Amino acid sequence: MDPTQDLRRTLVRTVAERVIAHADELTRLDQAVGDGDHGVNMKRGLEAVLADLDAIAAKPLGEGLKAAGMHMVGRVGGASGPLYGTLLMGLGKALADVPDRAALAAAFRAAIDATRARGKSDVGMKTMLDVLVPVAETLEAGGEGVLQAVRARAAAAAAATAPMLAVRGRASFLGERSRGHVDPGARSSQLMIEAVCDVLEARP
Ligand code: ADP
Ligand code: MG
Repeated sequence: MDPTQDLRRTLVRTVAERVIAHADELTRLDQAVGDGDHGVNMKRGLEAVLADLDAIAAKPLGEGLKAAGMHMVGRVGGASGPLYGTLLMGLGKALADVPDRAALAAAFRAAIDATRARGKSDVGMKTMLDVLVPVAETLEAGGEGVLQAVRARAAAAAAATAPMLAVRGRASFLGERSRGHVDPGARSSQLMIEAVCDVLEARP
């Protein structure tokens, strides 16, 4: 097996397994501000990704990400499915097979822009974008220890959604009562970003 195929497989598997392992927590968060299905939704989509892992890892990175995005769109059901699907497909469209940090940052920014357009949402609305956009900024800034900086930024950004007022998605139905809880999609984004950092940091 070629080394990049091995890395692609590890990346996809680690991200999927990490979120699935936290499905109950994501469900609890969504019980507080939504309809309590975010954990189940993500688990369903990511299990479809894992079931297709051999084919996904065999493709060039961009094509594999697009395939994973299609599974999320097809299987997740909730609002998060099309949004994570758009994010992954946008990343896939923009990514060369072995990107450097700058190429990854540019692709991530393009994918986030597509997700914002799809969700008609932006930073400050208490959604996954409140983690994705700050992380994109940290990735763009680069520098030494960028992965650690990304990890810290993702954690702080997810926690910072708690006091926010939700203005998109089901949480917005709660109005002021949406304050005081971390956004489930912000937390799932944090989990995925941490998993990617773990894999990249462990690379020889
Ligand atoms: P649903 O809201 O349909 O039940 P999920 O529970 O799976 O879907 O996902 C909810 C998460 O999706 C929210 O926590 C939020 O992060 C994200 N989300 C919902 N609507 C939007 C939107 N318009 N833009 C960005 N993210 C959104
Ligand atoms: Mg939900």
